[in-house]
Amino acid sequence: MNFTIKNVLISTDDGYTTTDVQVVDGKIAAIAPHLDIVGTAVNGEHKLLLPGFVNAHTHSSEKWQRGIIPPLPLELWLAHLYDFAPLDTEKVYLSALGTAVETLLSGGTSVVDHLVLIPGEELETITAAVRAYREIGIRAFIAPLIQDESLTAGIPSGENERNHEPYFRSTAETLALIEEAVRQFHRPDAGVSILVAPTGIQLCSDALFTGCIELSDRYNLCRHSHLLETKAQEKLAQEKYGCSAVEHLKRLGYLGDRTSLAHCVWLNELDIEILAETQSTVVHNPLSNLRLGSGIAPILKYRQAQVNVTFGCDGASSNDSQDLLEAIKIGSILHNTTERDYQYWITPRQATEMAALGGAKGLNMADKIGSLTIGKQADLVLYDLTSLSLLPRTDPIGLLVLGRPTNAVDSVWVNGKQIVANGQVTTINVDELRQELFQRSQWNTQRQSPTVAEIEAHYRAVMGL
Ligand SMILES: [Zn+2]
Repeated sequence: MNFTIKNVLISTDDGYTTTDVQVVDGKIAAIAPHLDIVGTAVNGEHKLLLPGFVNAHTHSSEKWQRGIIPPLPLELWLAHLYDFAPLDTEKVYLSALGTAVETLLSGGTSVVDHLVLIPGEELETITAAVRAYREIGIRAFIAPLIQDESLTAGIPSGENERNHEPYFRSTAETLALIEEAVRQFHRPDAGVSILVAPTGIQLCSDALFTGCIELSDRYNLCRHSHLLETKAQEKLAQEKYGCSAVEHLKRLGYLGDRTSLAHCVWLNELDIEILAETQSTVVHNPLSNLRLGSGIAPILKYRQAQVNVTFGCDGASSNDSQDLLEAIKIGSILHNTTERDYQYWITPRQATEMAALGGAKGLNMADKIGSLTIGKQADLVLYDLTSLSLLPRTDPIGLLVLGRPTNAVDSVWVNGKQIVANGQVTTINVDELRQELFQRSQWNTQRQSPTVAEIEAHYRAVMGL
């Protein structure tokens, strides 16, 4: 697994330089011009080397429903999603592979999969995803999505008391399940980590959050959750706790420097201070927030308050792709409309740092990945600067972020192991994957969700529509 990339472009503080990069035993061993070739020689000429990005929030199995859910806000969209969610584990395996392929070919070397579990086959679901990620070789952070309240509890009740069906699995059983997943699959050194990941305050009890904190402390696990994605959730937090969701999570002790929080659209000034003070990470999912009409997360405010921010694609049925470069582009320039002072706007270089080092920080991995630093793991992406979408020659990172790069990723290494070469994933057969995805699905335009029909009137009334 030793190799030396010769004559490759890397970024410096104020520009670019051409240099060599030596990788020994999976780690970056040297960065300097004219190095001796150790292991395989890789021609880096006309190519740009960047640290791999982190797809810091997604739900891989949503791939089976991408492009089909009508324009709906999150709460109704979710009902639609779950009405058609029963998958089999083979589909989970295939969609995890597909998510990994798209992430790798858009600059990602790590993925945080907030994995929706098949009821009754929870460990089998996790097994299927682990199998996929191990085979393809992407660095995987599997965050089994758990809750202990039923779907309707996630919608504010408004004036009336509403009773919700109890959730089918107890809190204790759910926690035991996660502990078992940790025992079986949590192997950070081998590239697979398990996270505790209650879906969010909207569907989780305090007992579930507290149990997750306890597991996280005992097994040194990172923590993940959705947070205040929609206006409805902001309302619900007030109903449930009489304070903001962020204040409540702080009181429970869920926030911290290994906690990453997806969305964070509806936070107030005090909430932002709390995220900064607890060193929590915000995962910005701009495309999903636009698609579901959730709102524009105040990312520039977070950055000004020194809150760590990184990017996610979110699941492929609220995006409806897994193109990380697309999420980074939209997630950067979107905010030029929210802040008149252009000095705060996100530059392409800042965007790539947020995507790489920012992602690593949120996973408690900043000392191991996220930058081209000697001693760090070689999670690297080599971009072909002769790709038509990156020509003519201007500022490579500027064009990578602001343009629309296609077929730009030439090579990818994770932990020093090459898993993409000449623009092709080498560890799995992508043609076979395409055939499987084709054969296990069909064109479908007439789907109706029974649950949406059931809850829509209440949702509209509560939300004043
Ligand atoms: Zn999500």
